Amino acid sequence: MIERRSVLKALGATATLAATHAAFAQAPAAAPAAPAAPFTLPPLPYAYDALEPYFDAETMHLHHDKHHAAYVKNLNAAIETHPELGNKTVEALLADLNAVPEAVRTAVRNQGGGHANHSFWWPTLSARGGSAPTAELAKDIDASFGSFSALQDKFTKAAIGVFGSGWAWLTLDDGKLKLETSGNQDSPLSAGRTPILTVDVWEHAYYLKYQNKRADYVAAFFKVVNWDYVSSQYAHAKSAKA
Ligand code: MN
Repeated sequence: MIERRSVLKALGATATLAATHAAFAQAPAAAPAAPAAPFTLPPLPYAYDALEPYFDAETMHLHHDKHHAAYVKNLNAAIETHPELGNKTVEALLADLNAVPEAVRTAVRNQGGGHANHSFWWPTLSARGGSAPTAELAKDIDASFGSFSALQDKFTKAAIGVFGSGWAWLTLDDGKLKLETSGNQDSPLSAGRTPILTVDVWEHAYYLKYQNKRADYVAAFFKVVNWDYVSSQYAHAKSAKA
């Protein structure tokens, strides 16, 4: 009995030594941990009052610093249990929601959608906006909708028609322009389409200045669209999909 115990003890010591060696050997090769908060709030690419009088500074402060910031914070919190998701871009996560573990899929769809949609939207607006699409985008809008003014009418109707909170979009769908809407923070990326133009029709985007007059807000939106940027992004998207 004593003999057996000392053999077991010796075996245990050997195993411990081996484990220690293994730990030393493996430690330097361990993969670096993903950052604790991999998603970050991009700064607004202009001053908060840049889009006055169409979009007021107070709304822009709340919209960017509170609403958009909350989506980022909640997205980071949601993926704490799945830190490997932080190695992908939010756009890549949304483009393949089925690859996101089911336990956090709804949170990624909602919070990640909120982060991606606002990140896409801010640079499409400008104090020097409001003119008209150019180059290939202008040509393709004419071909698909008849004219820029016809597109504006249809886009406005779609935006007004969103029941509750959501977005109206012009997207690139298999090489063709498509007008669509989404509810909540759903992104066309999840349906395989590329966003070209959008307007946020959540009440947080317009209620302070426009109250219930969503049509007036959408008309104001068209005064601040940065068509040069949108048209150039469209050319990139079209050549990338070609
Ligand atoms: Mn919003």
